[in-house]
Amino acid sequence: MTSLSSLVGAAAVLTGEAAGPYSIDWRGRYSGNALAVVLPSESKQVADVVRLCAAESISIVPQGGNTSLCGGSVPLPQGRQIVLNLSRMNRIRSVDAANYSMTVEAGCKLADVREAAENCNRLFPLGLTATQNICEIGGNLSTNAGGINVLRYGNARDLVLGLEVVLPDGRIWNGLRRLRKDNSGYDLKHLFIGAEGTLGIITAAVLKLFPRLQSSATGCVAIESAEVAVRLLAHMRANCGDRLSSFEIISRTCLDLVYRHIPDTTEPFAGKYGYYLLIQVSDVLPGGLDEVLRAALQSFGPGLMEHLVSTDAGIVEKWWKLRKNISEAQKREGISIKHDVSVPVNRIADFLARSDIALRNAFPGVRIVAFGHMGDGNIHYNVSLPNPDQNREFIAHHEAAVNKQVYQVIRELDGSISAEHGLGQLKRDMIRDFKDPLELELMRNIKQILDPLGLMNPGKVI
Ligand SMILES: Cc1cc2nc3c(=O)[nH]c(=O)nc-3n(C[C@H](O)[C@H](O)[C@H](O)COP(=O)(O)OP(=O)(O)OC[C@H]3O[C@@H](n4cnc5c(N)ncnc54)[C@H](O)[C@@H]3O)c2cc1C
Repeated sequence: MTSLSSLVGAAAVLTGEAAGPYSIDWRGRYSGNALAVVLPSESKQVADVVRLCAAESISIVPQGGNTSLCGGSVPLPQGRQIVLNLSRMNRIRSVDAANYSMTVEAGCKLADVREAAENCNRLFPLGLTATQNICEIGGNLSTNAGGINVLRYGNARDLVLGLEVVLPDGRIWNGLRRLRKDNSGYDLKHLFIGAEGTLGIITAAVLKLFPRLQSSATGCVAIESAEVAVRLLAHMRANCGDRLSSFEIISRTCLDLVYRHIPDTTEPFAGKYGYYLLIQVSDVLPGGLDEVLRAALQSFGPGLMEHLVSTDAGIVEKWWKLRKNISEAQKREGISIKHDVSVPVNRIADFLARSDIALRNAFPGVRIVAFGHMGDGNIHYNVSLPNPDQNREFIAHHEAAVNKQVYQVIRELDGSISAEHGLGQLKRDMIRDFKDPLELELMRNIKQILDPLGLMNPGKVI
């Protein structure tokens, strides 16, 4: 500890009780033990700490906002490890409005990055549903985060021009390029994006910016079956083109949970339906998008039970409040068996129908909470029993069997068992049954080359 203090200052090394909150994950499902939590304030300090850890064979768990949903950002219960939290590295190094780029440190909160872009009349489009004020760019890139604007702008991976990374031996790779074209060999930044801290520590990034939006309109749509949603998505893309930025699906059970646990939430419609959609269109030109959205919805034909379109910020916020609070409402209701899956977008209705039937047959009375980024083929599919007294026992006994049913459908539909949250500890073992052995071998080889001592975030991903 003395050596760590000499590198970053005594106040930036936490132990004992002070380290506690950094050692447990957002869901309270994973907790571990760290020798210390270290909070460096610049890249050189990160490099110094990494070199010291390599010399002492101490593992490193990189951490940003600690909002990971799969145990990636917390230490294991066993082993000698430190948590390396990047939150103090929160400087916006520069905003280059003319190049539509900005250079930020890994510990910048996503909300602050978005605000800095806005202040220069630009947009940084990564939009997470509920954690923007907590999660950090380093975490967003290390998980290749998705969110509600992927349909138009892509995942975090698509929003990066360059990276600065501290390698597991303590060398600093300065790849902070601001180029949109660079075919000068392997594009190494993509190794570190989505690596969940297993290959190195991202300390800074050059992010892509976009023109700031001037207008938007949102539709709230009620439908009975997900099959309508699949057809509507294709129709909206054809009719709204790139203006279509969000297409979210919410099952009725989600809304019931939100109304139960989140104050000031109201039904958008008088009737109750199987699914609801939130559809957002936006443009860099001002005005008129409500008409575009309304016309597109009206030309769809039968299948829409009810729909509303609004540009009023208050009304739109109320609709989004329903979507953004599903995870929080679920958390208050109790634990559930969570799945973060993706399938080709035109197979979403198949996925929901097949999984629902399989689970209801196997576990009568089961409650399925399904919602997600329909436009990206990404569904959060969570399973529990409605009675909290029975639920814990149900999960303890049947989690593996529930996973098996859901993942069997995912396999049949050529999908992925981890769409946006990553593997972390939660899916580290499961992925072995899903990935091609050759793909796993290549991943292990890359890990071995970059981190031969296996000190970077052990027990996660691979
Ligand atoms: C309520 C709720 C809603 C969410 N909604 C979304 C959503 O819409 N879309 C989405 O994609 N995710 C979502 N998430 C998941 C989570 O917010 C994202 O994965 C986010 O990108 C994690 O950022 P973080 O800073 O909290 O990272 P952390 O949780 O701290 O870390 C995540 C992983 O990245 C590694 N890591 C962190 N920083 C670095 C670094 N600088 N260098 C190397 N490795 C690092 C960690 O070791 C860990 O493996 C949600 C989570 C919650 C709790």
